[in-house]
Amino acid sequence: MFDAIIVGGGPAGLSAALTLGRALRPALLIDSGEYRNSRAADMHNVLTRDGMAPQEFRAIAHSQLEAYATVQTRSVAVDHGKHLPGGEGFELSLGDGTTVQTRRLVIATGLADDLPPIEGMQELWGRGVYHCPYCHGYETRDTTIAVLSGDPMMIELALHLRRFSSDVVLCTNGDDIDSTAMSRLSHQEIAVRGERVVRLEPGTKGLERVVFESGASLNRQSMFAMSQYRQRSDLAAQLGCDLLPDGCVAVDDFQVTSVPGVYAAGDMAHRTSLPMPTPFVVTATASGTIAAISADKNLVATDTAFRPA
Ligand SMILES: Cc1cc2nc3c(=O)[nH]c(=O)nc-3n(C[C@H](O)[C@H](O)[C@H](O)COP(=O)(O)OP(=O)(O)OC[C@H]3O[C@@H](n4cnc5c(N)ncnc54)[C@H](O)[C@@H]3O)c2cc1C
Repeated sequence: MFDAIIVGGGPAGLSAALTLGRALRPALLIDSGEYRNSRAADMHNVLTRDGMAPQEFRAIAHSQLEAYATVQTRSVAVDHGKHLPGGEGFELSLGDGTTVQTRRLVIATGLADDLPPIEGMQELWGRGVYHCPYCHGYETRDTTIAVLSGDPMMIELALHLRRFSSDVVLCTNGDDIDSTAMSRLSHQEIAVRGERVVRLEPGTKGLERVVFESGASLNRQSMFAMSQYRQRSDLAAQLGCDLLPDGCVAVDDFQVTSVPGVYAAGDMAHRTSLPMPTPFVVTATASGTIAAISADKNLVATDTAFRPA
């Protein structure tokens, strides 16, 4: 039986594993290798790692984890989790047919993105089509930018991106937008195209052209679009963790879920006071550390029967 199992080997899970290794906890990191930013060539806004490829970031994390003898890693998916009968702990069934048991569980299984169903979107996601101005806005400065959808959040994003480029076009993709929004966009010299977008065409460096339903097209070097996020794994739900309206796992300030012994970190979990996660590499890393500390301190309290007032 492990003291802790961490499910998910993105920034949150890797960070939790490091903390538990440094706490000398027998721990197992299990990862199925479907990272949220796997399509991105580089990551930004990560202090000391700005511009680094995500796979290099993970490789460094794994090499540093090797120094901690109590931490094992396995590349496999967790298919199912259940409470051990009559006491603390959990049993996980893995995709290779084996089972593992643990006293505490840190879930960091991340989110998956459902993209707008537009031809070419999947191929360009993270490499010409972006979702976050703080991750890739700087890289799109002085390019011709399209922003997809008439959702108020995307109107706000178009206004935001005007600082990066004098040529921003909001492609509402058939959405209606009200006169107040139209006037704010016009004031910032942001053009609006209302037609449905049917295709994105790549060029040598990323996006080259947005093609509309009518056959008309618009040359663009970059686009910002919104995904619908969902839980990558239903492990937390299987164990009975409370979920928030957006499907994320509810945690307190210390990454503690509603199920005793289960902690959650990274994009998949957030506090009830927030409407959505704060999905960045640094926030995932920080929350992974906090989840691991919470699990470790809870084990100390259980094993010593002492809790500071
Ligand atoms: C295109 C794109 C670009 C981005 N660029 C940036 C950027 O430049 N800077 C930045 O700060 N943020 C960026 N982000 C956000 C960043 O990727 C996430 O905030 C971060 O990856 C969250 O880390 P995480 O550990 O929570 O999840 P993830 O990195 O998604 O890792 C979750 C892990 O859990 C594993 N897993 C899931 N289910 C199971 C299971 N059942 N069993 C075993 N393992 C499982 C997955 O395989 C995956 O390895 C970007 C996101 C996208 C979509």
